[in-house]
Amino acid sequence: MIDLNNDVKYIKGVGPNRVEALNKLGIYNIKDIITYYPRAYEDRSIPKNISECEDGEDALIDAIVVSKMTEVRLKKNMTMYKLTVRDETGACNITWFNQPYLKRQFVYGERYNFYGRVHIKGSRVEMNSPVFDSKETSKHTGKIVPIYPTTYNMPQNTLRSIIENAVALLDGGLEELMPEYITEKYHLCDINNAIKNIHQPDSFESFKYARRRLVFEELLIMQLALLNLKSSWKKEQKGIKYSSNIKMSDVINDLPFKLTKAQIKVLEEIDNDMESEKSMNRLLQGDVGSGKTVVAMIAAYKAVKSGYQAAIMAPTSILATQHLESFTNLLNKYGIKSELLISSVTKKKKEEILEKLQKGEIDILIGTHAILEENVVFKNLGLVVTDEQHRFGVRQRSKIVAKGTNPDVLVMTATPIPRTLALILYGDLDISIIDELPPNRKQIETYAVTKSMEDRVNSFVRKQIEGGRQAYVVCPLVEENEEINAKSVIEIYEKYKNEIFSDLVVEYMHGKMKPKEKDEIMERFKNGDIDILVSTTVIEVGVNVPNSSIMIVENAERFGLAQLHQLRGRVGRGEYQSYCILKYNSNSDVARKRMKIMTSTTDGFIIAEKDLELRGSGEFFGTKQHGLPEFKIANLFEDMDILKEVQNLTMQIENNDPKLELDLNKGLKKLVDEKFDGHIEM
Ligand code: ADP
Ligand code: MG
Repeated sequence: MIDLNNDVKYIKGVGPNRVEALNKLGIYNIKDIITYYPRAYEDRSIPKNISECEDGEDALIDAIVVSKMTEVRLKKNMTMYKLTVRDETGACNITWFNQPYLKRQFVYGERYNFYGRVHIKGSRVEMNSPVFDSKETSKHTGKIVPIYPTTYNMPQNTLRSIIENAVALLDGGLEELMPEYITEKYHLCDINNAIKNIHQPDSFESFKYARRRLVFEELLIMQLALLNLKSSWKKEQKGIKYSSNIKMSDVINDLPFKLTKAQIKVLEEIDNDMESEKSMNRLLQGDVGSGKTVVAMIAAYKAVKSGYQAAIMAPTSILATQHLESFTNLLNKYGIKSELLISSVTKKKKEEILEKLQKGEIDILIGTHAILEENVVFKNLGLVVTDEQHRFGVRQRSKIVAKGTNPDVLVMTATPIPRTLALILYGDLDISIIDELPPNRKQIETYAVTKSMEDRVNSFVRKQIEGGRQAYVVCPLVEENEEINAKSVIEIYEKYKNEIFSDLVVEYMHGKMKPKEKDEIMERFKNGDIDILVSTTVIEVGVNVPNSSIMIVENAERFGLAQLHQLRGRVGRGEYQSYCILKYNSNSDVARKRMKIMTSTTDGFIIAEKDLELRGSGEFFGTKQHGLPEFKIANLFEDMDILKEVQNLTMQIENNDPKLELDLNKGLKKLVDEKFDGHIEM
């Protein structure tokens, strides 16, 4: 049997350059490549009559060559090749560019298959640069052809043939790990069939079966892994019972603003949890700007005043630093001492913090991943808050929880997940929702604009800045590659700084910069010393600069809706009317739909549902930005039915064999271990 861990270089057609390009796509071994699923399929199996072809469609025609190949030199380095073909219904003019080898490819009077984009000009039918096969070959046509997500340094055709070779190499030899009682009951095809037909479907019917099997497996393994985590928490039943003498209302009455009804309700839920002897495990969902931080601060107040310490985890140093400021401002006057632990803290300072923490001289420790380190020891950790949960793995959550004795846990997220999904994905947590924004927030005005409006946008931005405001400019992730992203940020920065706004203070920030540099930039932006901040999505999460009133998103078509919503939430946080300008550059239907949704609603829950709806499975910008676990093939919206089946099955397994110890479930155990060995990320 073939070893799936073998390097991709063992696949036919993969030399050193290709290895590198494949690695860029996240493909390292044979397993990676056979689970690198197509994002779409083209049906090149059924030819169309030439007379029935429509303008702009991709079509297959089956036609006879009725002309000689003509060669037209258009200019230096550009030669056009023209061929006329005909079927029973009409003629089609085909053109290619710069491909001299084509001259000897076609025999006058013979039939060929051509597949390409059709253009209709008056009564003429044309096709540009089609792929083709003669009657003897079926390399590009005559079948359903998979389209893979890829980048410019790995052409579609190359990738396709590499994957074809990998699948051929398997030769049906994959081990079936799904137990028979499951494949039978749920009508799942076997794994070899599934892999073959997901890449090279014989028909759309067999593709459907293949996909069902793979989606089922993926969702099942995710649910079983969650089950595993849950049961390891459930053991720890009894938690801390906080004193009912410590009143949250003492802080609430001291706040400079009135809490919203939703904030009060959520605080009541938290207060009940804290005073009960069960440990709290609560997910707090609230849209950007709904005021989750103050809720966390009041919970921390209660914990500290009851004699415990609290830990606050944030995904970025920027955010952690900002939290420290908020916590100190509010809680210092009650004698509560907060400290910051992020990677840029000096060694000396760190040692001091660790010592004080252990002695109980620090009440609240706020930080990034740094507070997960082993040498961070609390005297008496009673409350753990993780902000923007989706940036943390579930395992990291349990790691911080283990630093106390059954501390209460509050998980905060600004990713509005439809409730049905939240119940499945966070089944182990109680859910609280802040479903209203503080009063007097101005609605953010959102505009989707194309290139032609650029000048108007720029003069609008200038006006705002002259009025004292600040702007963010966000550049898209070009690839999952920080180096290239950094470059694109700098390019756009230079354009703004040198060409458009040379008289203003423009700065940039990206993920490749040192935490300290980022903090410095952010600090200057907060102080109003920077007019325009060009950055990647590092500013996406939670940053609060009330004076910034403009969010410009470059190439907005490249972002998921949920992410655009997060970005938009960076403005409109103060008293000023704020604007979100989505520059987009695409004619695709999906892009237009996305822009329409963004301009028509600011409700995060509606946006979340639409987002799931619009995403195709396996899309390049996957679920990562959604805060949901990343799936290779499942789509939580489309596959809700399968998810329900899987949920039933998981419950059954939970009752019969929660630890997957029975012989019957040996294969499942192996699948879970393989997939989540050491890192379940959600
Ligand atoms: P998020 O839920 O996105 O984390 P924050 O907690 O950062 O939101 O709150 C956003 C801003 O709203 C902060 O400046 C905060 O002080 C303010 N705020 C929170 N609650 C209220 C309220 N009830 N009334 C007015 N302002 C509030
Ligand atoms: Mg926040």
